[in-house]
Amino acid sequence: MTCPRCQETMHTRNVGEVSVAQCAGCQGIFLARSELGALTEAERDFHAGSGPETTALPRITADMTAPPPASRSTPRSYLQRLFG
Ligand SMILES: [Zn+2]
Repeated sequence: MTCPRCQETMHTRNVGEVSVAQCAGCQGIFLARSELGALTEAERDFHAGSGPETTALPRITADMTAPPPASRSTPRSYLQRLFG
């Protein structure tokens, strides 16, 4: 894979259970939306219980149903704008 920013070769890296492509030149990272979700969960797990304002979020399970469509005017997270 070639970096879309600087055209260097990108190499596959494993970050925990997630596989991402990282550029050897600019260190840019390419990942799928689902991989971003997995990294976000891992980040949350890393910080779980580390502060008084940290509360555990529910894990995604097969019996869950999709929430109603969110309003585009009120993003649910900062990272949502990456795919908005
Ligand atoms: Zn690059």
